[in-house]
Amino acid sequence: MKKSHLLILFVSLFLSITSLNINSRGTQDTYDSQDGYVPNEVLVKFHKEVGRYFIQRAVDSVLGKVMTYLDEEISPFAWNPEVSSLRSFLADPYLLHIKVPKEIGTEQAIYILNLNPNVEYAQKNFIYSVVTIPNDTHFSKLWGMRNTGQTGGTSDADIDADEAWGVFTGSSDVVVAVIDTGIDYNHDDLAANIWTNPGETGSGKESNGVDDDSNGYIDDWRGWNFVNNNNNPMDDNYDDNTYHGTHVAGTIGAVGNNETGVVGVNWNVKLMAVKCFNWEGSGTTVNEIKAIDYSTDNGAHLSNNSWGGGAYDQALYNAIKRARDAKKLFVAAAGNYGDSGKNTDNDPFYPACYNLNNIISVLSTDHNDNKSGFSNYGANSVDIGAPGGTNDGSVKDIYSTKRYDAYRYLAGTSMAAPHVTGIAALAWGKLPYPPFTYTQLKSRILTKKDSKSSLSGKCVSGGRVNAYKVIYDSSVPSAPSNLGVTATAWDLIRISWNDNSSNEIGYEIQRKAEGESNFSYYASASGSSYDDYNATTGTTFSYKVRAYNMAGLTSFIGPLSDEVPDEEPDAPSGLNGYFSYGKGAVILTWSDMSDNELEFVIERKDEWWPYWQEIGRIDFNTPTFEDYEVYADTFYWYRVYATNPKGDSSPSNVKQVYVPQY
Ligand code: CA
Ligand code: CA
Ligand code: CA
Repeated sequence: MKKSHLLILFVSLFLSITSLNINSRGTQDTYDSQDGYVPNEVLVKFHKEVGRYFIQRAVDSVLGKVMTYLDEEISPFAWNPEVSSLRSFLADPYLLHIKVPKEIGTEQAIYILNLNPNVEYAQKNFIYSVVTIPNDTHFSKLWGMRNTGQTGGTSDADIDADEAWGVFTGSSDVVVAVIDTGIDYNHDDLAANIWTNPGETGSGKESNGVDDDSNGYIDDWRGWNFVNNNNNPMDDNYDDNTYHGTHVAGTIGAVGNNETGVVGVNWNVKLMAVKCFNWEGSGTTVNEIKAIDYSTDNGAHLSNNSWGGGAYDQALYNAIKRARDAKKLFVAAAGNYGDSGKNTDNDPFYPACYNLNNIISVLSTDHNDNKSGFSNYGANSVDIGAPGGTNDGSVKDIYSTKRYDAYRYLAGTSMAAPHVTGIAALAWGKLPYPPFTYTQLKSRILTKKDSKSSLSGKCVSGGRVNAYKVIYDSSVPSAPSNLGVTATAWDLIRISWNDNSSNEIGYEIQRKAEGESNFSYYASASGSSYDDYNATTGTTFSYKVRAYNMAGLTSFIGPLSDEVPDEEPDAPSGLNGYFSYGKGAVILTWSDMSDNELEFVIERKDEWWPYWQEIGRIDFNTPTFEDYEVYADTFYWYRVYATNPKGDSSPSNVKQVYVPQY
């Protein structure tokens, strides 16, 4: 095709400008590196309002083929965002994974696509790696869980797991996605804690060739393998005998108290195997997006992400943002770099460093509670430390499960992150969401840590995680009191209470709308008030509030209800007034003609100042007022109107009152 050759030549002329243009947009390094991405592939996001035909033409302009989410190659003219089987990503119809001929290549295709005004962004399919440092030895001591100095380290340089287990050992209601190389789901020490998809094939958990739960994946009864697009997420990471995902899974949730092998932070939990890294421990943007979306959409409460690398990746960021919008925690390894790590405040490591409040970025500590040499750090970009070993080929590293019922030592921030993931899962098992939100849980983990001078300035919390402190409170908080429920503005009801506790994590607000039969969870709050901005006008809403912490929930206070009015109140009438010698005040009374006023407003003028002025407000349903600010031998005029968030009534009749000499 002559036409396409011309196109290639034309674009080559502009290649040298490309990186400059991109850099000036602030997406640092994204297009500079020649390495670290899958050649001849592009991820391109179109603006949602762009017509299908323009998108197809744009893909064709780089001679691209569209890859579906199951990696089938289709013509751009077959692509259709309305048909989920033809999308590249189930959760984002307008993000396309395309392959281009090598004569065009990734860089030129991105350049051409970014010139198209219909394109939001075009980027590489980056390559990520798991962040472990493999090491083999034969002794088994989990110093990260309980450190008695058995490896020559410092006693209590551990996460206090044994104390935590005295309080709670985990719940099979909590689902943790292990976004990794897969999990050996047959391992003696893991099998009982492996997640199975309740939507697939009933109790048999067999393959019937049918997508029973219509989630886009046929027979995904034990997770999914995004590398090979099948339903077998077995860990095949045999490179260097690592079995990374299986090791990570064991730290989060190896079965406890079963007289076998090791024990995870959770004795009971459900581990969702989401395989998107291959036998070498390499993965791509495309597969990680699919894996993150799968975990978000199929019931995982949080995910462990012991991987990273590369440049800022907009498509990946958006997938983690979707997880955040679904209220999922995303625990990420801070990354390893050489013998001393790097400061990721200056040189970010992704995904740990994305600015999203559902990410907990974890650095690695050794058996003396020092930062592991290899571990990245950052006073702003890394949140907290957790045991990840030394990487000197000894028992100082982290011991956990390996494929084929085996065990091994590994070191890395890859091993640190699952300690935090495990603690988060343990906490959410003890006090679920709702009401315990991901922001409250993250804050709890960062607050209830062991402060370490060695980590001061190395991470936000300046400490190493402590499982016991996170999941333990000595007593249930004091219940709130004095519930207030008041419509204060259009579509807004303010719920307030007295905070009687100093050890609450938060407050749960339950709501019931007029016509509904039951209260249900509505919101979580910190502090002593909550503004409900979704109070439909003209409907009465009732609220109940209770406090909670890790020791439990208080009883509810309430219910109490109010209604945002859907029209202005009716004007008061029959205003009457007289001077009372006994009180030395003008006494006003009127008829309340309205059932939706919030307040009455009293206005006055007098013979010296003949302009209406507000002199007081009183509550609804209280049609009387006493004016003490009066002078003798003076004429006053009064009027009253009613008000609510919708507006003011017209004024009442005007009443003249003479205050005599007295
Ligand atoms: Ca399915
Ligand atoms: Ca099935
Ligand atoms: Ca009234």
